[in-house]
Amino acid sequence: MNLLTIGSVAYDSIKTPFGSVDKALGGSASYCSLAASYFARPAIVAVVGDDFATADEKILAGKNIDLTGLQKIAGKTFAWGGEYSFDMNSRTTLFTELNVFETFKPVLSEEHKKAEYVFLGNIHPALQLEVLNQIPSPKLVGLDTMNFWMEKALGDLKKVLAKIDILIINDSEARELSREHNLIKAAKIISAMLKQSDKTALIIKRGEYGLLLFSQNLSLRVHPKQSESEIAASPAKALTPRNDIQVFNLPGYPLKDVIDPTGAGDSFAGGFMGYLARTDDISPASLKQACVAGSALASFCVEKLGTERLQNLADGDIEARMKDFKHLTHFEL
Ligand code: AMP
Repeated sequence: MNLLTIGSVAYDSIKTPFGSVDKALGGSASYCSLAASYFARPAIVAVVGDDFATADEKILAGKNIDLTGLQKIAGKTFAWGGEYSFDMNSRTTLFTELNVFETFKPVLSEEHKKAEYVFLGNIHPALQLEVLNQIPSPKLVGLDTMNFWMEKALGDLKKVLAKIDILIINDSEARELSREHNLIKAAKIISAMLKQSDKTALIIKRGEYGLLLFSQNLSLRVHPKQSESEIAASPAKALTPRNDIQVFNLPGYPLKDVIDPTGAGDSFAGGFMGYLARTDDISPASLKQACVAGSALASFCVEKLGTERLQNLADGDIEARMKDFKHLTHFEL
């Protein structure tokens, strides 16, 4: 295990204009760990009910995912239903049934407490915090969340945000969390909510349009660094020392067939964190490469319904797509 991930393991019912599935293996931890399994050995901390099928367990175990932290208890597995409109950019959540997650108390094994790379996937922020509090010295902690938790548990969310290094959210969530429409301004507001260190970074996913990575250590500066005298002359306009924020902008992969966007965000996170765990390198260059790796995994995920595509990537598929990204974005001046 070199990446510990908490999140939902779910049964998803999905309708898209191009197909539908009922009670298929899903959930943030499933997508994330399947994607990460191509780079690292992920471990899942989650709970399922006694309706969770052995065949689904085998799908995860077959990808060498450590399931020793997956509890099985009496009750029903987390269930979620979603339906996509024709442009696939907007989704209606039909239902969210927390079921066994309502009473879940994650207790980490001694082995899992030693995790260096930790991904707190989308689930109740109080549970994310409970897991994080059991890991004494993680090297890098990433977190994903969604508007559902901003509306239901903002206090808990802010507590956990203050303890993590990298936040991965989508554009509408960034706007909701910061109460700011402009994403550059939103990034500054949100970055200040995170644990402040050299590792602090924010990734705003923009669906089919790609992503923005904000951190202090990249090469493209959005806001100039301010000198002490500039700050003294105009305190109202002072950017905090952390606000010399810099950005990396990666496009989405131009796919011919998008069948089901469910789990794209979690697959991105899995590819991103898995890549960093594999390389054990959190330099700015590596963060950018990890964004490309994550985007490659997300682009595969949406090619088929549910987790199907992530289960069956062949050797060389990911590398080829990462090279495509390089060609897509390369130009001479
Ligand atoms: P995404 O498309 O990246 O938002 O991820 C969709 C996955 O997240 C589905 O597999 C759902 O089972 C899972 N999911 C949806 N809502 C929640 C929630 N409130 N908490 C945890 N997981 C969720």
